[in-house]
Amino acid sequence: MSDKIIINDMRIFAKHGVFDFEKQNGQEFRIDCVLATDLRCAGVSDDLEKTVNYAEVCELINKITISKSYNLLEALAEKICEEILLTYKSIFSVELTVLKTQAPIDIAHESIGISITRSRHIAHLSIGSNLGDSDSYLNFAIAELGKNKHTRVTKVSSFHVTEPYGGVEQPDFLNAALEIETLLTPCELLEFTSSIENSAGRTRDIHWGPRTLDIDIIFYDDVIMSEQRLTIPHIEAHKRFFVLEPLCEIAPYKIHPILKKSISQLCEIEETE
Ligand code: ADP
Ligand code: MG
Repeated sequence: MSDKIIINDMRIFAKHGVFDFEKQNGQEFRIDCVLATDLRCAGVSDDLEKTVNYAEVCELINKITISKSYNLLEALAEKICEEILLTYKSIFSVELTVLKTQAPIDIAHESIGISITRSRHIAHLSIGSNLGDSDSYLNFAIAELGKNKHTRVTKVSSFHVTEPYGGVEQPDFLNAALEIETLLTPCELLEFTSSIENSAGRTRDIHWGPRTLDIDIIFYDDVIMSEQRLTIPHIEAHKRFFVLEPLCEIAPYKIHPILKKSISQLCEIEETE
């Protein structure tokens, strides 16, 4: 999607900065904003209701910029992007530049500032439980994910009864797959899903052992990453039929960004092995 709404060089007097004199005297801030959204319907219909009203977006930016003093331009920019993405569901991403015209430095300059881009992301999660009332634990996970204002559950598979994996003697599992839309980064999402596991009474006594609730991040857009606490795509997902089968219900054509095969193809391979 390459359509964009462009707001160029808004000038707003406000009071952001680390120093007291910046908070007291204020200065002019210059803001550029590029909104990625689909403009086809508005173009074909010539109807204002079918697009994002840029006058409203300017008002929103102005309100946030003058209503509070932030120490950092980073914090102001983060807040503006967040509010735009929460308010306008049809905007995929916001590119925002905020410049100070009187930054407190001695070297002559025109302006100094920052530019950030914030977007909606699509993540696929696998949820599972084999301790206690598994059906309730899976529903608890879905409800908790929906309570966070930065996350929206967009697809839910049916719940599948599956045999345990990993050689530990334990009860059958109940597994499902979810698609969510999120403004969180991968690490923030892991922190959030771990907190939901913890509130469901999850303990980590035996590796691959029984659990009230397990939430794994399978995909996050087409991101490929491997850090100490987080590997995406989930490193075992393509080998686990209990992950692939529910996922195939909600995302059969999703392509695994490393293996370059669709979920439906991976599911077929796993099923026949
Ligand atoms: P598993 O889900 O493989 O049975 P755990 O739920 O006990 O194992 O997870 C152990 C650790 O795996 C978590 O603390 C987390 O830091 C790490 N981890 C790495 N990648 C992921 C991922 N994609 N999704 C969830 N957890 C992950
Ligand atoms: Mg896990």
